[in-house]
Amino acid sequence: MEGKEQEEMEKEYTVLTFAEYEEGLKNGKLLGLRCASCKKITCHPMPVCQWCGGRSLERMELSGEGELTTFTVIRVPSEGFEDDAPYIPCLVKTKEGPCVVGRLDYDAEQATQELIGKRVRMNGSYTYKGDKYSGGAHTCPVFEIQENKSVTQIDTD
Ligand SMILES: [Zn+2]
Repeated sequence: MEGKEQEEMEKEYTVLTFAEYEEGLKNGKLLGLRCASCKKITCHPMPVCQWCGGRSLERMELSGEGELTTFTVIRVPSEGFEDDAPYIPCLVKTKEGPCVVGRLDYDAEQATQELIGKRVRMNGSYTYKGDKYSGGAHTCPVFEIQENKSVTQIDTD
């Protein structure tokens, strides 16, 4: 299917397309969907609620705050990611509930298991050019560890 057609179709069925989600990330916003039935938050965007399958969804903005659930350090990159290594893909459990995949903004040489469970906050986004499997460039959120920092404005750089 033509990319444009697929995009049009997605628009018809979803309140928040993946392209809009990625555009939000570039602007420092972590966008998700609130379910009218169970009130829970879905992120990243899906056509139905990730918790109850409900279809009545409303776009909302997450705080970007959460807890580092797990991470790994990539030193041997897959094809297309040579320029990125070493880098740290991570999973963050957001304050609002859903887990989000992103990257951790941290010195890969210093990263240890002790980071797991720490508070993190989205501090920007990263766009990777992609490889032959990923169908072009994609953007993911970037998180930083919040040692004992007080809550500050999100840096939208
Ligand atoms: Zn729901």
